[in-house]
Amino acid sequence: MARKINFYAGPSALPVEALEAARGEMLDFAGSGVGVMETSHRSKEYDAVHNETIALIKELIGLGDNYHVLFLQGGASLQFAMVPMNLLGSGASADYVVTGSWSKKALKEAKIIASAKVAATTEIGKDVFRAIPKPADLKLDPSAVYCHITSNNTIYGTQWRQFPNIGNVPLVADMSSDILSRQFDPKPFGLIYAGAQKNLGPAGVTVVIIRDDILAKCRDGLPTMLTYKTHADNNSLFNTPTTFSIYVMNKVLHWLKGKGGVAAMEKENTAKAKLLYDAIDNSGGFYTNTIAPEDRSHMNFVFNLPSEELEKQFNAEGQKAGFLGLKGHRSIGGIRVSAYNVNGMDSVKAITSFMSDFMAKNG
Ligand SMILES: *Cc1c(COP(=O)(O)O)cnc(C)c1O
Repeated sequence: MARKINFYAGPSALPVEALEAARGEMLDFAGSGVGVMETSHRSKEYDAVHNETIALIKELIGLGDNYHVLFLQGGASLQFAMVPMNLLGSGASADYVVTGSWSKKALKEAKIIASAKVAATTEIGKDVFRAIPKPADLKLDPSAVYCHITSNNTIYGTQWRQFPNIGNVPLVADMSSDILSRQFDPKPFGLIYAGAQKNLGPAGVTVVIIRDDILAKCRDGLPTMLTYKTHADNNSLFNTPTTFSIYVMNKVLHWLKGKGGVAAMEKENTAKAKLLYDAIDNSGGFYTNTIAPEDRSHMNFVFNLPSEELEKQFNAEGQKAGFLGLKGHRSIGGIRVSAYNVNGMDSVKAITSFMSDFMAKNG
């Protein structure tokens, strides 16, 4: 079996250890005589996995007891709507910082439901983004219920390398593509959400982290399944959760903890970013990335070659060399290397060495 080096932006690579552990238990899980997929979500065996997964997320991020971890469905895209539905009562408004397509989508949903203001946008042409706003560029509404940011812009390769200090207004963050990739202080965050399929596990489960005071202020009167309180009050077992996705996420979290936790991930991600951006910046203009160094993502690395033709060739030869997912997002083209936690230094060394060979032949 030849495993490829998988740079897909999402769903993305999973640790072999996690996949092997799941394979080993596929037919008989925790001595139950059935697989986890076939087990009741109310069984004691599943319950143990469910609660341990919540505990691991809390431990790895360093969340206080005043945070609830929820496992929902509908992806980050449903959170674009659930956040304003639950948090914005009538007459209330939220701030949105627009740094890419996903923030635009979040803003669009918020506007359907309530009032939302653009605190800053870095869109410099239709769907063209290359930066994160500077703190001074944020026009914050002091009466906003929350301020929404996208911590890492998966498509554009930009990332909030430092979260903005916005005073008493709670931050709400879409961390779909960089959760557990670096350490941060969770205290300013009232709510964090992330579709699992980039940095946490298989598609299907969406992790929502919500602080007690925000939960207490959530509005009533929404459909039951769209209400955060429903899921918080029932430990995400109001209805059938995505048991298998949660189970595989549990294996991924064990793998991550075994590697030294988020601190170790951050260290490796920083080293990976240095290697990749050095390969781009030291290529004499063959590879280009126009993002300011302080806004460059440590997860998704986007770059261009001198022509579209060369980009196609890079992609085709890359595929032959065993790399998957090098094609940039359809909205911006170019090349994108998505190197989440699972793609460690070895994967990044392999692609930078391929880049240098490719340049030697075609530069
Ligand atoms: C992938 C992605 C999404 C969309 O996630 P779904 O789970 O497919 O809805 C949203 N935000 C960011 C930052 C993403 O990377």
